[in-house]
Amino acid sequence: MKKLGILFIISAPSGTGKSSLIKSFIEKEKSLKMNISISFTTRDIRPQEKNGIDYNFISKKKFKSMIYKKEFLEYAKVFNNYYGTSLKNINRLLSKGKNVFLDIDWQGAQQIKKKIPYSKSIFLLPPSKKELFFRLKKRNQDNKKVILNRMKNFSTEIKHYLEYDYLLINDNFDRALSNLKFIVSACKLSIYYQSIKYKNLIKNLLKK
Ligand code: 5GP
Repeated sequence: MKKLGILFIISAPSGTGKSSLIKSFIEKEKSLKMNISISFTTRDIRPQEKNGIDYNFISKKKFKSMIYKKEFLEYAKVFNNYYGTSLKNINRLLSKGKNVFLDIDWQGAQQIKKKIPYSKSIFLLPPSKKELFFRLKKRNQDNKKVILNRMKNFSTEIKHYLEYDYLLINDNFDRALSNLKFIVSACKLSIYYQSIKYKNLIKNLLKK
């Protein structure tokens, strides 16, 4: 059996609950052996965040040198900061057969879909604008100006939902979690992955 992991891109307007959904999923669904890619960013670290766990926090200078050295699978400028996914890290995980969640924006999703067409993408929506604003405020991680900026970006991000393979609504956390499980499980059984995984078995079955 050949090892090949699947990339799951998850995008959502800020405050939709994407990070909590991914974290809960990884903890609850251990048998699905999901991993999360830790991005590089130039944004300031928030009080409860840890370097190397939530993000790899780096300077703009270092980020630009990584772009120059082609060390990113994708990168984008989001809310005036740079964010990027390490190419080396993703290749290492996928070649070990690990399935990986990428918590990235629509710009990064577009770049990855071009480079890795068989990756799967999921767009997560909040139940309403009001609820999103409430969640952003409750999160209490950003100042009012940053929250308003994120709300302004909401419609830009949301316009891209049709570019994704799946759409989830986070109106009920447990339901979103179980729907995510359906998606991941179905993708693992898709013809693309199954035919690579069981290449030898299929070859033997087809032998005359
Ligand atoms: P935050 O600053 O709230 O952690 O993230 C802001 C946005 O940047 C989120 O929509 C998140 O998905 C996106 N983001 C995080 N990491 C990456 C990345 O590596 N690449 C891209 N393109 N977007 C990212």
